[in-house]
Amino acid sequence: MIEPDMLDARRNNYLVALIREPEHTRAGLAYVDITTGEFAVTQIVGETLDELERRVQEELERLQPAEVLVPAERERMIKGARPAERREGGFRTTEYDAWHWETSTARQALLNHFEVRTLDGFGCEQKPAAIRAAGAIVQYLQETQRNALAQLRQLYTYSTDHFMTLDAATRRNLELTESIGDQKKRTTLLNVLDATHTPMGGRLLRRWLNQPLLNRDAIEARLDAVEAFYTQTEQRMALRETLKTIGDLERLTNRVVSGLATPRELGAMRETLRRLPDVRAIVADLAERQQSLGRPVPKPLEAERLDVAEDVLALLDAALVDDPPSTRAKTGFIRPSFSNELQDLIEKSRHAREWIAGLEQVERERTGIKSLKVGYNKVFGYYIEVTKANTHLVPDEYIRKQTLVNAERYITPELKEYETLVLNAEERQLDLENRLFEQVMQQVAAQAPRLLRTARLLARLDVFSALAEVAVRRRYVRPRLHDGDAIRIVNGRHPVVEVMMKDEPFIPNDTEISGEAFIHIITGPNMAGKSTYLRQVALIVLMAQIGSFVPADEADIGLVDRIFTRVGAHDEIARGQSTFMVEMVETANILNHATNRSLLVLDEIGRGTSTYDGISIAWAVVEYIHNNPKLRSRTLFATHYHELTELEKRLPHVRNYNVAVVEEEGRVVFLHKIVPGAADRSYGIHVAAIAGLPRSVIKRAQEILADLEAEARAPGGHRERVRSLVAGATQLPLFAEPEPSPVEEELKQINVDELSPLEALNLLYRLQQLA
Ligand code: ADP
Repeated sequence: MIEPDMLDARRNNYLVALIREPEHTRAGLAYVDITTGEFAVTQIVGETLDELERRVQEELERLQPAEVLVPAERERMIKGARPAERREGGFRTTEYDAWHWETSTARQALLNHFEVRTLDGFGCEQKPAAIRAAGAIVQYLQETQRNALAQLRQLYTYSTDHFMTLDAATRRNLELTESIGDQKKRTTLLNVLDATHTPMGGRLLRRWLNQPLLNRDAIEARLDAVEAFYTQTEQRMALRETLKTIGDLERLTNRVVSGLATPRELGAMRETLRRLPDVRAIVADLAERQQSLGRPVPKPLEAERLDVAEDVLALLDAALVDDPPSTRAKTGFIRPSFSNELQDLIEKSRHAREWIAGLEQVERERTGIKSLKVGYNKVFGYYIEVTKANTHLVPDEYIRKQTLVNAERYITPELKEYETLVLNAEERQLDLENRLFEQVMQQVAAQAPRLLRTARLLARLDVFSALAEVAVRRRYVRPRLHDGDAIRIVNGRHPVVEVMMKDEPFIPNDTEISGEAFIHIITGPNMAGKSTYLRQVALIVLMAQIGSFVPADEADIGLVDRIFTRVGAHDEIARGQSTFMVEMVETANILNHATNRSLLVLDEIGRGTSTYDGISIAWAVVEYIHNNPKLRSRTLFATHYHELTELEKRLPHVRNYNVAVVEEEGRVVFLHKIVPGAADRSYGIHVAAIAGLPRSVIKRAQEILADLEAEARAPGGHRERVRSLVAGATQLPLFAEPEPSPVEEELKQINVDELSPLEALNLLYRLQQLA
């Protein structure tokens, strides 16, 4: 889909090519957006095939492609069977013949396309899988979108290592760009942060949100730029006003390069170029202010970097009329002064039209026929009409063409000459204007790399100033970043919930995670605000790592390599066994992939099963994170199992927190405040009361609770059993180096190269006995 009207201007429209090389546990993934000219490739590597697959899916999730190209499966090619519907990661998938993906074919396609001898300049010469994917895309476009190819002037090789990986569940749970649940009521982080004024800026911000950075210097560079706009109000406002008038230079340029641009689109490009000197002046002004205050000038804010392309503007100004039309079907879109030939043609046809228009008057006077008329019809063209009564006055050179009931129609050679001029002029002018328009497009297309560079810089300026604007409007602060473990947030807020709150104020909360106390267990009744708090911390860290200011009074963020979430807040969607399975799969994923740089947000793990199962699983999960040296990840763990607060006593790095609740006249009031210590009781019945359960039910429930609690406290009761369960869960040396087994010992001794087949067989027997 390339028609601008049918595309969402604020999101990219990607075609992805994906090839897996299971034998090397790697995959090549390339993508293009032919409406913006973006063309990028990466090689994804995994330790195992499972991990590789996970990374591939994560990258697909991030890109949300409109179409995924994959090699056609071999058996099918041989059998010639019709391809079955295949869907990669749920995205529309097209099979493309396998030979296009062969390394040499793909490589040659790239060399030919870019007219280069090596791919070194693109950074992918050493990445064979990447070459195969990128080469396949180029060939596919050659077959399906020839026009689009011209726009692909650069291939950008990227590494997924530079970005924070966000798995699909986390992306969804944090509602970064899509909301869950009731669409109308909810909003996303993107909605809150997106104050951009250009489509290019909108697309860039979306991309940034999906790819937080890992490198501190890169993040600080973005923060510097945001801060410059944050502090310089005047320049920020001026720039944002100007950006409002700026069009989608990126897509417009690519319309030109592909030869599809309409006069109106070139006009829009001209309008955009007209604004660039203003942008540049504002940026220069800002840089000057920064310097005079002794602050550094962030790189994207160096005014010289903005190429205002005066030459292109001059060309468009000269060539296009003011307010050009949306099609080239009618003449009048090229300024006559742009070409002598055009001017001449217009002049001649105007003269001819005037001559014809004046003819009636001239001939009436010459012939003395008062009723003489000049008319036009499709069959004869222009004619002179004289009534029967006056035919005797008709001059000799009139040629009779048609007889009517009471009139005769004539032509003259001169009239026909002018008629040809008038009638052809339109067609010739249209031809000429179209030719001139094509030339202009070619000239502009030749400058595409410059225009695209400008477009990208505009997008960045747009995002920086938008993030600064949001920071001012919503009272965000610049986070301080470091590479340690600590995450310290003073008066943090949930960026989205705070915006959604209408009647009540949002209650800010502090966070203090450190290497000493890296697991926080947060207890509290439902609806107290646990999920909100958990997500708030994750979102603040994520925002900091895209280079945004954050909703807090102060924030020190020890950078994280990944954010994992297991959030059960929307478990109303589905219940029962399958929900529990999903929950466990997600938990397994986290425990298998988190590192000691990760941030884990776990909400109500084990809720989908019976109490004892649930407590045991949750308990073991916390222990695992705490003790496994590979993990020891910073973790926020929300639960309504009070039993888990026991963990604080047993594991040195665990701290208890709870959400403060007060009871007023038998009713529960949530303060939404996170305070140290364990919550002492469950307020489920009170919540039920608030929810409007009949009074008699509430009363009966209270009686039953009292009974149960008494029973639980009794010897052998529930609480007693949990106590003993907990006491029994002694510090198993789970992660002490396990003793190597005799089989392993023996295996280590073997020198495989020196083994004869017979010896090998005997060895196998021996090992089997040992095991
Ligand atoms: P829990 O996870 O404990 O069940 P939630 O986080 O879903 O609770 O919060 C329930 C509701 O409480 C939210 O929908 C929100 O309206 C409100 N809430 C949560 N945190 C705050 C806060 N810090 N300030 C004000 N209101 C809050």
